[in-house]
Amino acid sequence: MSGTVLVIEDEVDLATTLEYNLRSNGLTARLAHTAKAGLEAAASDPLPDVIVLDLMLPDLSGTEVCRRLRDNPHTRAIPIIMCTAKGDEIDRVVGFEVGADDYVVKPYSVRELLLRIRAMLRRTQRTEAETPSLRFGVLRIDHGAHRTWVDEQEVQLTALEFRLLTTLATRRGRVQSRETLLSDVWGIEADITTRTVDTHVKRLREKLGVAGRYIETLRGVGYRFKDSPDEATAEEEAP
Ligand code: CA
Repeated sequence: MSGTVLVIEDEVDLATTLEYNLRSNGLTARLAHTAKAGLEAAASDPLPDVIVLDLMLPDLSGTEVCRRLRDNPHTRAIPIIMCTAKGDEIDRVVGFEVGADDYVVKPYSVRELLLRIRAMLRRTQRTEAETPSLRFGVLRIDHGAHRTWVDEQEVQLTALEFRLLTTLATRRGRVQSRETLLSDVWGIEADITTRTVDTHVKRLREKLGVAGRYIETLRGVGYRFKDSPDEATAEEEAP
């Protein structure tokens, strides 16, 4: 598997070890030791395929870096793996809130991080191959470009929201449980609560506006993307 990984990590020894391991696994590695250098490297061509981001950096926090990467249209779609301090539950949640896609807890094994990077690359590449582009009612998704439109107005989605949308949309008419979505979209073992899924679906629906109704909630079960754009929603059927 090929791909470019940007490592934003101020511990020089750790960053160098990662660089060595990424290269010996056939991946291209780029290093940045400060948040500022990381933000610059993230937006430089060719864009990285995955960013490994340390939460504790000398100049800016990892969550702030994450936020800025998500605010920049060039870097918005790049998956981010955040490295958090051991047992730091709050930072982990905050990490997802600001748009991280996965996390590892320090001290992590290089092997574990490599597995997560590979999983991330595989997920991105597989989804792209499955859905080159999609038109569904007022919704249009260009997978290669990571862009979404509703009524021809572009909607700005985070990488995670985009993956959530495409995962649901490619499984039209099929109910997806929260656990399935956690494992397929977040790609992590479910030690994050399934409420995370609800939070993100809610935000995704809000961003999609009129197209938000294509995603139905099946109470106590999960979510389902409608079979056809004209299908009545449960809410519409209610008296
Ligand atoms: Ca650090």
